[in-house]
Amino acid sequence: MKLELPTLQNWSCHSCGGCCKQHLIEITPAERERIDQQDWPADSTAGISEVPYEWYAGPYWKKRYRLKHRGPDAACIFLSPEGRCRIHAKFGEAAKPLPCRVYPYAFHPAGKKLAVSLRFSCPSVVANKGQALTQQLGDLNNYAIGVGGETGLAAKPPRLSATSTIDWPLILSIRNHLVQMLERPKTRLSDRLLQTYVFCDYLHRATLNNLSTARQQDVVELLAQTAPDEATLLIADLTQHQLSTVGQTYFRLRLAQSARHDTAQTIAKGWRGRWQAMRTASMFVLGNGIAPSLHQQLQPRSFANIEQVTANISAATDELLTRYLVVKAQGLHFCGLAYDGWPFTLGWMSQLLVLPIVTWLARWRAASEQRSSTIDQDFADALMIVDHNHAYSGLLSSKNSLRQVRTLHSNNDLASLFHRLPSA
Ligand code: SF4
Repeated sequence: MKLELPTLQNWSCHSCGGCCKQHLIEITPAERERIDQQDWPADSTAGISEVPYEWYAGPYWKKRYRLKHRGPDAACIFLSPEGRCRIHAKFGEAAKPLPCRVYPYAFHPAGKKLAVSLRFSCPSVVANKGQALTQQLGDLNNYAIGVGGETGLAAKPPRLSATSTIDWPLILSIRNHLVQMLERPKTRLSDRLLQTYVFCDYLHRATLNNLSTARQQDVVELLAQTAPDEATLLIADLTQHQLSTVGQTYFRLRLAQSARHDTAQTIAKGWRGRWQAMRTASMFVLGNGIAPSLHQQLQPRSFANIEQVTANISAATDELLTRYLVVKAQGLHFCGLAYDGWPFTLGWMSQLLVLPIVTWLARWRAASEQRSSTIDQDFADALMIVDHNHAYSGLLSSKNSLRQVRTLHSNNDLASLFHRLPSA
């Protein structure tokens, strides 16, 4: 299978066990049967005396099962105290459920290839630690086949916008322009973001459907060339821009949705957990008093205290945030099948919005530890928290969320949020 790999990213598993605590793993009937045959209750050293999976969804004639979680940190039942997967240790990597083998990779249609992306909820991805992806082609091919990659090769391209549908080669050409803008040397992070934003804003407003393919390509090239100068003009306008009330509300709502951490423990709370999440969201919308903890790394602190923290983007954090966006762009992780059918332009704007959210959460991390300014690790932690949900939480890709991003865009609030990002 033809795969397109991200150019900047390495990864190997360092057995931190984080994914086995954070993610709930649904298993197929074949995987359930395989686990039954492994006969865990008979293994006295494993301490698994119960059936290791549970019915969690679907009617009784079409039950869906997932692996059980247990213990004080609600880890997968197969995770040993040493942070190792017992299935892997005893029967080898291939015996694990497919989602465990594929994580943190994600595979998305990209015309005649599959684009490989990664989830930055994994600390080794954030740290860029491990083998080059080019050395893992054999495994990546197997995973791509396992997740039904052949079907992906036949997928239609994502819509460009509400008014334009274009073919794969042009979608990929636009994607490549985004990457070039993100990697532009000697340009502030916020300016690079704004260049990609302006480019997508133009494409969002253009109607390309009635043009020939050659003409569409000409228009795209022209817009890509113009975007940096137009971004400079926009920056001059943004110096006076104040976030609108609705913009502030939507941004805070998105903060709460991005930082929320649903684990086996929170899900077990049922309606109480959902009620608590709604209450928390309304506290964020009001934005005064104490921001309640949404994650074990984010302690209750006053909104005023969090917003007083100075956010420092060092060269290392700039590299991390740039690499994050490049990987997501190259992997087409923000639109189409990867993002609940969102069009390319609004999907990219939603992807860019991750950076102001990460910056706010990095300040909250610093405030949680009584610091008045951020350090690099605050950004790394915040990115892991946010990318756990981005493209995976239905809340962030719902119709409501699409409306929010569209409103933030039309009020110029999105551009203003990018412009306010600190730079290295
Ligand atoms: S089966 Fe193994 S790899 Fe999968 S979540 Fe459980 S411990 Fe982790």
